[in-house]
Amino acid sequence: MIVKSQNKSKLLNFIKSIFPCLKKWIERFSICIGEIIYTNLPIAMNTVEHEQIHVDRRAKWPKWLRWMWYVLYFTFPVPILFAYFRWVEERAAYLYEIKYYGRSIPSVVDTLWHNYCWTWPRPWMTRWFEKQMKEFNEANGI
Ligand SMILES: [Zn+2]
Repeated sequence: MIVKSQNKSKLLNFIKSIFPCLKKWIERFSICIGEIIYTNLPIAMNTVEHEQIHVDRRAKWPKWLRWMWYVLYFTFPVPILFAYFRWVEERAAYLYEIKYYGRSIPSVVDTLWHNYCWTWPRPWMTRWFEKQMKEFNEANGI
């Protein structure tokens, strides 16, 4: 995993030039393209691990099909309806942050709702995380 300044990304600069309205939104986040994290923020270990989970999940796809990961993530179903693929990918990374970095379920659900374009209905996300944490805590005697 490599971390670079966001202005080093030709793709992000291109997107920002075409859609200036997205500039502030993009700059609020660390964005992983391939195995490079582009960010203007101080990089935190949980961010690196979060992005590594996406990289690892994408690596399980056949190489010739990995472009499809990005299509599904960013355009399906174009945040008009709930975005199941984005929800599935992000829940894996955010579950890790809840388990090992103490993030709260409500804050993660808020993030997924507001910052990831309504990935999945909020009560369903909450229930999914609560179920996963209940199983995790039981398995670990917590
Ligand atoms: Zn993510």
